Amino acid sequence: MAGGNVNPRGVGGSGESPPVVSVCPMCGYPHEPACKITEPQKEEELQELVARYNDNLGLLWFHPPNGGHRHAAVGAKLKRQGVKAGVPDVWILDTPAGHDCRGVVIELKVKGRKPTPEQVEWLAALEQRNWLTFCVNGLQEYVNVMRVLGW
Ligand SMILES: [Zn+2]
Repeated sequence: MAGGNVNPRGVGGSGESPPVVSVCPMCGYPHEPACKITEPQKEEELQELVARYNDNLGLLWFHPPNGGHRHAAVGAKLKRQGVKAGVPDVWILDTPAGHDCRGVVIELKVKGRKPTPEQVEWLAALEQRNWLTFCVNGLQEYVNVMRVLGW
């Protein structure tokens, strides 16, 4: 379990589900009904909303900081150190209930954007290695996937 976070949905618990209030993906507070989702236009905004949402669920997860623009020299140095192009945006090390998998990886795209060939390859390679993989367009799709997974 991830330490320190409130875990309002009982993730990682016994499987019994007490009545719980979902974390609102927009404001990050557990309340219902949730705020109406406004789709972020920028990938970094989407990533921040997803980060708060995941943290509030108490998941053990991380985002590899390999996106964004960098100077070529910095990029080359990171590459020598093992940073890989196309790795998924969200790595969840917890296993969703009822799934026999290593964890869940999710590629985040804002609405209307497609994954790069490297991103598609990473998802395929991870799927072969028994990870659950998703590519989602926007916050609403992200939340739908998480709810289907029981989170
Ligand atoms: Zn809210």
